[in-house]
Amino acid sequence: MKCLKCGSTDNKVVDSREGSGGSSIRRRRECNKCGHRFTTYEEALRARLQVVKRDGRREEFNREKILKSLEIACRKRHISVEQIERIAESIADQAESEFEREVPSIALGTKVMDALVKLDEVAYIRYASVYRRFRDAGQFMNEVERLIGRE
Ligand SMILES: [Zn+2]
Repeated sequence: MKCLKCGSTDNKVVDSREGSGGSSIRRRRECNKCGHRFTTYEEALRARLQVVKRDGRREEFNREKILKSLEIACRKRHISVEQIERIAESIADQAESEFEREVPSIALGTKVMDALVKLDEVAYIRYASVYRRFRDAGQFMNEVERLIGRE
C-alpha cells in the first residue's frame, strides 16, 4: 500500500476497526517516511451465487428466500426468530464457501432439511413435504415412520 503523499510503501497500521456486520475492516495507516496518515478499507467479496433450479432455470441466490421457507416450516413451533435467522445465515455461509458460482437448489434444500431435522421434527416434516413433493400420503407416512424409528 503506497503512501498517497510520498509514494513510499513503508507504513504501519496505527488503528484498525471492524465495520458493521464484521465483514469489513478499516485500517488507519501512517507512512514511516513522511508521517502522512491515510485509511484503507478491506472487504470480503460476496460471491454472486446463482441458484440452479430443478428445471434448469437460474436465479440469484437470496437468503431472504431461505429465511421465508424456514419461517413457514417453523410456524407456531417453539422456535425463536433468532434460531431461524441463525440457520438461514449458516446455510448461506455454507453455500458461499462450498460453491463458487452456482449452487443447485437441491443442495440448498438438503441443507435446510439437515438443519431442521436437528431442530424440530414437525418443522422438518412440513419442509420436507413441500420440498420432496410427497406423491401420496403413504410416502409421507414413510418419512414420519423413518423419523420416529430414529429414536
Ligand atoms: Zn509518505
